[in-house]
Amino acid sequence: MGRYTGPVCKLCRREGMKLLLKGAKCFGAKCPVDSRPFPPGQHGQGRKKVSDYGHQLREKQKVRRYYGVFERQFRNYFGKAVRQRGVTGETMLQQLELRLDNLIFRSGLVSSRAEARQLITHRHFTVNGRIVTIPSYQVKPGDVVEVRERSKKMDIFQGSSVRRAPSWMSVTPEAQRIDVLSVPTRDAMELPEMHEQLIVEFFSR
Ligand code: SF4
Repeated sequence: MGRYTGPVCKLCRREGMKLLLKGAKCFGAKCPVDSRPFPPGQHGQGRKKVSDYGHQLREKQKVRRYYGVFERQFRNYFGKAVRQRGVTGETMLQQLELRLDNLIFRSGLVSSRAEARQLITHRHFTVNGRIVTIPSYQVKPGDVVEVRERSKKMDIFQGSSVRRAPSWMSVTPEAQRIDVLSVPTRDAMELPEMHEQLIVEFFSR
């Protein structure tokens, strides 16, 4: 499975918000979104007028980059959401929130989704006692995610997080354990400004 290896802070500046792609730097004073709050590139400060399509496209790109998934996978999430009951945009976000890499990032055990993805593929996490190596694995209420016993002493898991985990999960940092309590509601996701309805409109064109 491929992954994006280009400059990530440019993605945040392009979308005009912190996508939290770079670990500790995102939570410090050196975040470029704060120091250069305009899109990257020669014409970054010049582009002003955006069409409806442009708004929809930017919203889609923003959410896709926030969760670190590729276009095809993102379309699959949308397709699944359309086939399920409920509000399509919210259902799609729920699937993204319930990805294993997102859960581990949100718990505060690691500092970015990219870091979570790498640790998952390197076999450092279990779900209900079994090793899972797929970052897109969908967790469900009742699942228990833990750092594998022999990985618990790794330096990367020793730092304490300043982030608070959302209410739909319970985190026991000393045991390096996450309990999934429920499927997150839209409010419980605690997302930055996102307009998922624009993404539905984008794919419904
Ligand atoms: Fe870079 Fe993180 Fe700031 Fe985004 S949020 S611009 S990844 S430091």
